[in-house]
Amino acid sequence: MQMKKVRDLRQPETEAAYKKYLAEYKGGCPFCLETAEPRKIVKDYKFWYITENIYPYDKVYSISHMLVPRRHLIFLWDLSSEELAEFLEIKKQLAELGYDEILENLPGIKTQHHFHQHLLAY
Ligand SMILES: [Zn+2]
Repeated sequence: MQMKKVRDLRQPETEAAYKKYLAEYKGGCPFCLETAEPRKIVKDYKFWYITENIYPYDKVYSISHMLVPRRHLIFLWDLSSEELAEFLEIKKQLAELGYDEILENLPGIKTQHHFHQHLLAY
């Protein structure tokens, strides 16, 4: 299968800032709240939080948030039953919260291997 790849979700200045971040990346997980730089929490749950994407997909969406488990894990199937139950409850509410789409990057193609889903609104 041949796939034409076009990465064009960010405005040029946002993409440039993201590339700079990647080039200067010194390791450490940006989503583990105990060790990451302080980030704005949009909505807080017991096992999850919603945060702003510092490098938003601003070419396509006006809102670019991320739903992140508090515990560091890579795959959806690594969730505990309690974490999974809360995840499904949150997902039921996402349209009411104003989001239009969910995007999940597959592990291995991005630098951040802490599971997260992008919550996006036009
Ligand atoms: Zn992490």
